[in-house]
This record gives sequence, C-alpha cells and structure tokens, in this order.
Amino acid sequence: MEQVFAPWRIEWVERDPEEKNVEGCPFCVLPERDEDRESRIVARSEHSFVILNNYPYSPGHVMVIPRQHTGEWGTLSDAELLDHARLKIATIDALDAALGPDGINAGENLGGDAAGGSIDDHVHTHLVPRWSGDTNFMPVIGETQVIVEALEDTYDRLHEAFAGLPTATATSEDADPERAVRLDLDG
Ligand SMILES: [Zn+2]
Repeated sequence: MEQVFAPWRIEWVERDPEEKNVEGCPFCVLPERDEDRESRIVARSEHSFVILNNYPYSPGHVMVIPRQHTGEWGTLSDAELLDHARLKIATIDALDAALGPDGINAGENLGGDAAGGSIDDHVHTHLVPRWSGDTNFMPVIGETQVIVEALEDTYDRLHEAFAGLPTATATSEDADPERAVRLDLDG
C-alpha cells in the first residue's frame, strides 16, 4: 500500500515549554517579536513572512504566511494575496538555490479539523523540498538536538539564498543573520 504524502499533518509543534506560554496565535505573535532568527523567520515581504517549520518533514520545510490573521484566503486584500503569491515564488527560488531539491510540494490545510491542521484560523502554505528517492525524514530527525542543528543550518542556507535574490532590499545587503531578509516584491 502506498503511503499518503501529507507532511502538512505535521503542523506547528512548540519548540520549548516557554512557547506554550505565548498568548494567542503563533503566526501573529512570532513576527511581532524582534527575534527573527530565534523565531526562525527567514524572510519578510510587505504583507507576508517565511518561517521554518519547527518539526520539518524534510530539510527546508517552510511555511509562507500572510501577516493578516484570518482562516479564509478570501478575506485577504488583492495586495495581500499578490504579496503572498510572490513571496511563495521567491521562496521556491531560494529553496532551489539553497538546497537544490529535485522537486517541491506545496500544500495547505483548509476547512478545519478534517483537513488535519493544528492552526486552522491563520492561513499558511507549506513548501516541502523533495529529493528523488527520499523517504519520510522524520525518524532521522527524531532527536531534538538533531532538529535544532538541522534548523540552524537550513536557516543559514536559506537566509543566504534569500539575500542573493534580486528582490532582496538594499538593507539586506549586509545580510544580518539575526534578522529576516527583507524582500521588495512590488515591482
Ligand atoms: Zn494569527
């Protein structure tokens, strides 16, 4: 029997007990903090941001998320939707440059519990790099320390790739590794 590929079922997992104390929606709270690296936010555009999944299905598993708190794409403005779409494209470019996957899966959990997401009131798009012949990476990264190291390595690689995109803003030229790369996607 073929296994269903559904890495988006592996949703948000608190990184440490402290995070459980965060009030409210993590996709709203984390970008508000001035701790992009700590929060694993690797890139930002005007209305959206890219965050590494705490418990990646594969190296480079990220989510592209609008800043606006909503469970329905239809409530976002045209500007927000366009910004999110462009950031998704930029993220695919960055993943290609940083990790050279053979392919990328994109997916969303829509419509609540039945879809399997743990955060269904703030829309987000998963991007999961794939390699020919890869299998579920989860057993490999089953130990916390390995996950932390893998995430830091992925963060650095992706950060460098985002900073190298033509849409990276001038202020990103220094590529401060503590802050998300800012992208100007209006053009
Ligand atoms: Zn939210």
